[in-house]
Order: sequence, then C-alpha cells, then structure tokens
Amino acid sequence: MVTVFTCQGQDIPLKYKPSQRAKRLSLRLSPKDVSLVLTVPPRVSSSQITAFLKRCTPWVENQLRKVAKTISIKPGEKVSLHGTMFECRVDPLRRKPSLCQATHTLHLPPRCGQKDLYDVFKKMAIKILTPYVEKAAIALGQRIEKVTIRDTKSRWGSCSTSKTISLSWRLILAPPEVAHYVCIHEAAHLLHMNHSRAFWKVVGELCPGYKSCQKWLKAHGPSLMRV
Ligand SMILES: [Zn+2]
Repeated sequence: MVTVFTCQGQDIPLKYKPSQRAKRLSLRLSPKDVSLVLTVPPRVSSSQITAFLKRCTPWVENQLRKVAKTISIKPGEKVSLHGTMFECRVDPLRRKPSLCQATHTLHLPPRCGQKDLYDVFKKMAIKILTPYVEKAAIALGQRIEKVTIRDTKSRWGSCSTSKTISLSWRLILAPPEVAHYVCIHEAAHLLHMNHSRAFWKVVGELCPGYKSCQKWLKAHGPSLMRV
C-alpha cells in the first residue's frame, strides 16, 4: 500500500511496511528518494496510524529541511571537498570534469555527465581516504586486504570478514574530521566485528571527538547522499 503524506504543501510518498516483529509504529525518511516508510506492527487500527502520522508532522518537517539543503554541483556554485571550497566553472574546451587543486576550481565540460563527475570525486576519495584507513589499521596492529571506494548511498562504509574496507566517495563532501572518523570506525571493525563497548573504546582512542562526527553525519548525511 502506497499513499502520500502531505507536509508543507509537498506530497511525500508513504510506503507501509507491515512487520510481525515490530512493537510499535515507526516512521523513517529515506533520503535517497525522499519517501517515508511506516513500519506497522500487527493489530494497529487505521485511526491509530492517522494519529501517529499527525504526531510525526513536526519531525517530518524537520527532516525535510535537512534533505532540502542538497549540494548542487553546477557552474557558479561552490562545493566543499574535504574541507576546501572549490568553485565550479564551465570550460568549453573540456570533455571531462577535472579538479584544479592550485586554484580550487572544479572545471566542468559544457555537458557534464554524472558518472564523469563521480569519477573525479572517487579519485579524490581514494587519494584521501585510503591513507586514513591504512594508518588506523597500523595503529591497531591489523592488516587490511583492500580498500575500495564505492558509490554507496545507504552507508558510509563497511568492513568485511575478509578484511576489505569499503567507503563511500561521498565522505569527501563531509568535513575532514568526519571522513577521518568513518575511516577509523571501519578500521576498528578489523578488531571488533560489532558495535560493542570494546569497539567504541577502540574508536574513542583513535578518534576522541567521534561523537560530534556522528552528530554531524546524522544532521547532514542525508543531503550528502543526494548529490
Ligand atoms: Zn560499524
């Protein structure tokens, strides 16, 4: 069942997700396609759902404000890459986008495909994030098999049992300390494949300010995922 949730004059698709295990109604905003997912436990009446959705309105409004701040990469705009502002400029002679570190310019061809743009960011992410992960692994006395940079929209990173760490290139859109924290977080999974107290102790030792990074990601992460 799909319906809409009207908020601030905007119709947001609302998907119902019945769940046998859920204990209560819960609402989640998917930043990827700006839709709402309502988890519905067994034996909930439609009036309970209506009342719940009404109570959620301020929360939805707040979430929408966050995703509205989408970063746009177009001529004249500025984009922050690993803490440095780059100006986007069209260069008629170019076929592919490229970054100029000396002038802090992101040169765009007249018609820039998203894939080409992502490739530029991915390259930058490989250069910046890989050493972060490697340094953290060394500090933890762990070995990494591989670091891969991907275009993941649902998560910032992952660590597999085969010691491969995957990171989202979108981390370069975040402040350096936040990107650094995610690298440390994933490297710490080489030691603890969970989010136990022992895991967070390791993270805290390598990244004492990790809690503020988590807060930043919670507040701004959705808009980064929509670039
Ligand atoms: Zn984790």
